[in-house]
Amino acid sequence: MEYREEDFLMISGIQHFEFCRRQWALIHMEQMWEENLRTVEGEIMHKNAHNGSFIERRKDVITTRGMRVFSSRLGISGICDVVEFISDKNGCEIYQREGKYRVVPVEYKRGTPKEGMEDVMQVVLQAICLEEMLCCQVDKGYLYYGEPKRRTEVQITEELRIRAEKDVKEMHDLLEKMHTPKVKRTKKCNACSLKDICVPQLMKNTNVNEYIERMIGSGN
Ligand code: SF4
Repeated sequence: MEYREEDFLMISGIQHFEFCRRQWALIHMEQMWEENLRTVEGEIMHKNAHNGSFIERRKDVITTRGMRVFSSRLGISGICDVVEFISDKNGCEIYQREGKYRVVPVEYKRGTPKEGMEDVMQVVLQAICLEEMLCCQVDKGYLYYGEPKRRTEVQITEELRIRAEKDVKEMHDLLEKMHTPKVKRTKKCNACSLKDICVPQLMKNTNVNEYIERMIGSGN
């Protein structure tokens, strides 16, 4: 089965989904977004990654910034901060370029590597999209973190591919049912950019829109 373009989900949403299913639903289904330092700084880093020349060639590496990628099979699309095409005789052919290239996505993030898998899964989905679009094999990608200012390698393993595809399927299912998962209070809630909207200590079953309407309606 192939998804229609209008049903594509944002690749970057997997970060929210891996962090907390409810957070993903609040942002991507209920359109809630609470800007805090964490998200604003993250956006600045992304703008920097997208700045500069669109395509740059240095020795054996062609670098593209802000490349749009998608997978019709999974129903996802997004933008890769950076994709490197590294000259490699075992790589794949690229349209209008001589030679063969290894394809490597690089995602920019603020701060230090996270405990969870959210950033890793984003790179995995980018790799799957690049494979579908370019008919190539992507074995690894990188995460570039702002604070240590260095790359961390991400191996695109079979296990991670299965997990990423399962996440995406679950996201499509939730969206189809318009179901926002209930609050599950964990220590992650303290660092959550939506904690004031989600109100984990008050809400157990209702969705955010109902809660806000109730609060306004009651004059609180
Ligand atoms: S506050 Fe907690 S339950 Fe609510 S969206 Fe954030 S992480 Fe999820």
